[in-house]
Amino acid sequence: MAAIGDLLPDRDSCCCDLPHLTRRQVEVLRYVAMGLSNTEVAARLQVSARTVDHHVAVMLRMCAVRSRTELVGLCYAAGVLVPGRWPPEGSGRLCIRLGGTS
Ligand SMILES: [Zn+2]
Repeated sequence: MAAIGDLLPDRDSCCCDLPHLTRRQVEVLRYVAMGLSNTEVAARLQVSARTVDHHVAVMLRMCAVRSRTELVGLCYAAGVLVPGRWPPEGSGRLCIRLGGTS
């Protein structure tokens, strides 16, 4: 189990069994939480819209959610995004505890 960490360098020192976002994904997530479209996020991060589409699609799949709205809600619940802060901030926590509502 410990070897999994070697495949996922963005996990830092955390070695729990939950799925983990990367720091780059959290950057995208913060803009999504602000209500920006993928095109707008792409402009902020100076990457292509395709790249942002990819990051969002990976996060939706990883978090087993159906929409970006659900993704943002789950990430607040998981403590990845900090409640009470605007604009949205990452807490530094990258672990996602799945909601399991479906
Ligand atoms: Zn973790």
